[in-house]
Amino acid sequence: MPAVSALPQALVETLRARFGDRFQTGAAIRAQHGATTTWIENQPPDAVIFPECTAEVADIVALCAHAGVPVIPFGAGSSLEGQLNAPHGGLSIDLTRMIDILAVNAEDMDCVVQPGVTRSRLNEHLRDAGLFFPLDPGADATLGGMAATRASGTTAVLYGTMKDVVLSVEAVMPDGQVIRTGHRARKSAAGYDLTRLLVGSEGTLGIITELTLRLRGIPEAASAARCSFPTVEAASSAVIGALQFGLPFARIELLDATTVKAVNRYSRQDLPEAPLLLAEFHGGPNAVAEQSQAFGEIAREFGATGLDWTVDPEERARLWKARHDVFWAVLGLRPGARGISTDVCVPISRLAECIAAATEKAEALGLTAPIAGHVGDGNFHNLILVDPANREELAAARTYVGWLNELALSLEGTCTGEHGIGQGKQPYLEREMGPALGIMAAIKAALDPKGIMNPGKILVGHSAGR
Ligand SMILES: Cc1cc2nc3c(=O)[nH]c(=O)nc-3n(C[C@H](O)[C@H](O)[C@H](O)COP(=O)(O)OP(=O)(O)OC[C@H]3O[C@@H](n4cnc5c(N)ncnc54)[C@H](O)[C@@H]3O)c2cc1C
Repeated sequence: MPAVSALPQALVETLRARFGDRFQTGAAIRAQHGATTTWIENQPPDAVIFPECTAEVADIVALCAHAGVPVIPFGAGSSLEGQLNAPHGGLSIDLTRMIDILAVNAEDMDCVVQPGVTRSRLNEHLRDAGLFFPLDPGADATLGGMAATRASGTTAVLYGTMKDVVLSVEAVMPDGQVIRTGHRARKSAAGYDLTRLLVGSEGTLGIITELTLRLRGIPEAASAARCSFPTVEAASSAVIGALQFGLPFARIELLDATTVKAVNRYSRQDLPEAPLLLAEFHGGPNAVAEQSQAFGEIAREFGATGLDWTVDPEERARLWKARHDVFWAVLGLRPGARGISTDVCVPISRLAECIAAATEKAEALGLTAPIAGHVGDGNFHNLILVDPANREELAAARTYVGWLNELALSLEGTCTGEHGIGQGKQPYLEREMGPALGIMAAIKAALDPKGIMNPGKILVGHSAGR
């Protein structure tokens, strides 16, 4: 990566004069605003700024565009593919002071929020209205960051991903212009779909300063079920069987035996240390009971044991908290190790064979790479534990990641179901997209001709991506 360039003095003076102590250059705060939750080396920005409204974001972007300085939007910092690094230096625009919930339109089941609102805060705010925002990536991410990475998580099997719940955005474009991509209508056929262009663009095309989001009614009842399997393939096959049967999972998650062991230790659970499925159903009390029982019957056909289910909210919350802490639990298996998270997603019918081959390959390479997956979507993660100082281990991990991504493509899948491309998955994007990558580069060049918006992410080696 090229060396970091300091900001021009004139820009620094202008930003200091306008933003006072909301413009910061200390080493610690810069490091916190590079990538921190990933194995990818931290590349801090030159400075960090904390705007409080759209006009300030537009002002900052216009000044940086004029000076040719990169800008990197920052949400909660939980992205996993080096999306926040500043390989070309520049200014991190931290949006965590833009936290207003601007409107809740209960009758229309939508809301308008600023980008720094986290999903948990939005849900606290909505509870009394009987509504909720259904997507849950586990990390308490910001809604701006979730839109920018097209995030999903454990509930995507029922509620979709950010592409399904964002109705429109307001965004500051690379020249400082403020645009709105749509309104509150449930559907629109008005021209190119700029909302979906910005959702998933990882801060490379514009900075989202407002989001209009679809909401859902809080279900009358929810049940959580769990059962263990002799193998991960048997568990995956049970999920395929249940989906084909038409069971409307709200969540269906797979943990392999090593992951369960890590969860037991980290979250003080007492789960049988064998491949495990965790399911959740939303609906009326009778419906969720019937669905849990039907799930148990199907699961037993695939060798499941220890079926247990509950409608108790506290027990459910405890179980899902443990699931969402899997990343930290697995890291705890090997103190000092870094985690490399894979993120392939394949058609459901190919999931069992993909997981079986992946498990075999990781073992053959001598890697500790436990599995947790949103298997209802065909999406699973290995968290490969590596000692960053051990070259052989790092090489084996890279071999594995490349091999797995190729396997997913050969099964008509993708290298990333939800974490995005950032820096980490760039080598695989060209292979996955073919000539369509050139179209992406053309869009980037047209919208951001100076290449100031989060350069060096998604598109590497393309002029506008620097
Ligand atoms: C323990 C753990 C579990 C996770 N599980 C999941 C999961 O199940 N599903 C999932 O999808 N992800 C998961 N992730 C990844 C991560 O939580 C998501 O990528 C999340 O959407 C990032 O949101 P953030 O607010 O942290 O964004 P950041 O990490 O701050 O930023 C992410 C990207 O978005 C850009 N960005 C941020 N805000 C804006 C904005 N307002 N406008 C334009 N661009 C912006 C940034 O420049 C960057 O490129 C997990 C991460 C961790 C650490």
